[in-house]
Amino acid sequence: MSPSEQSFLIFGSPLIEQAEIDEVLACMESSWLGTGPRVAKFESDFAAYNALPATRVAALNSCTAALHVSMVAAGLEAGSEVITTPLTFCATANAIIHAGLTPVLADVDASTQCIDPAAIEAAITPRTSAILPVHFAGRPCDMDAIMAIANKHGLAVIEDCAHAIETEYHGRKAGTFGDFGCFSFYATKNITTGEGGMIVGRDEALIARARVLALHGMSKDAWHRFGDKGYKHYQVVECGFKYNMMDLQAAIGIHQLARVESSWQRREAIWRRYMDAFAGLPIGLPAPVEADARHAYHLFTLLIEEGRCGISRDAFLEAMNASRIGNGVHYLSLAEHPYYQQRFGWRPEQWPQAMRIGRATVSLPLSPKLSDADVGRVISATRHALPRS
Ligand SMILES: *Cc1c(COP(=O)(O)O)cnc(C)c1O
Repeated sequence: MSPSEQSFLIFGSPLIEQAEIDEVLACMESSWLGTGPRVAKFESDFAAYNALPATRVAALNSCTAALHVSMVAAGLEAGSEVITTPLTFCATANAIIHAGLTPVLADVDASTQCIDPAAIEAAITPRTSAILPVHFAGRPCDMDAIMAIANKHGLAVIEDCAHAIETEYHGRKAGTFGDFGCFSFYATKNITTGEGGMIVGRDEALIARARVLALHGMSKDAWHRFGDKGYKHYQVVECGFKYNMMDLQAAIGIHQLARVESSWQRREAIWRRYMDAFAGLPIGLPAPVEADARHAYHLFTLLIEEGRCGISRDAFLEAMNASRIGNGVHYLSLAEHPYYQQRFGWRPEQWPQAMRIGRATVSLPLSPKLSDADVGRVISATRHALPRS
């Protein structure tokens, strides 16, 4: 088949099975679409997966919402500084800004592409109130060093676990080191609810507050108000947001979560196949997984540096597209975007590792939905796109 006759391999396409479809139908037939029993089940299953009590998790409608609500619930001083990585999705920085706080960037480690603890230390000022590390691509950040810095300076820690459902560091789940961990179930993430998120926390009282904040600041949610136990008045106790997850979303998530480990195994196998196939090519490959860590294998990222590969990153993306393979870019440094440049005066050169990586990085498809033949297509298209392979 010529490339134009082959189907387009959509980047990050989720694996949806019959169990999710049946559960969504059952949810619709039950007529309870909003936050209710399926969200409660999804929360308790997610808590069990992380070995946490259900009182320490709350399902929300996105990871962005989880990040925002965490920072509000943490009670950080208005206008104070939150140190995060430039190599992340814009939602990380936007949530800091919407919480009334100021993002401050600390560069990433050249090899792991996660925030560099030494750069965090160097970015601390008297105005710093929190650190927001991102477990990039599913690789755990150096949480021993980050927690030591946080404890030394009395800072809150909010972990962006959007890539990191399965991630572990020294035998402990990502998201359970800091005050809060925020997970994403966006369509391309390791498990999906279409849109959705989860917040896990160290302190049950703060999770209870996050729950109230996520539903208008009301003291009782609809499931408890309109259930068969009789009408209950609610009280508005805070000025909250509209961030609750629906049962329709949880219906998908319950079955996605039940397959989280088999999906991880499939991505690990694809990852290994890519590593073998690309060894010796003039491209940058992901660093080996550290001892005593578990990588969530969310993104498989290559570095396409023109001087070494003979093709620019953007030309490589075009060549892959011509081979009908969809790729991602995770991420251009936040400092490349005009909004942050204008508001904070950021220039990409201030964080040289994130700038270099962001200008060279390409994410290949890594969905558990990929067949062995699909993976073979990605490998041959990658070789084909590289003039010096
Ligand atoms: C996807 C993502 C988010 C946002 O997740 P949503 O659920 O889409 O709000 C935040 N941070 C990172 C690193 C992400 O990849």
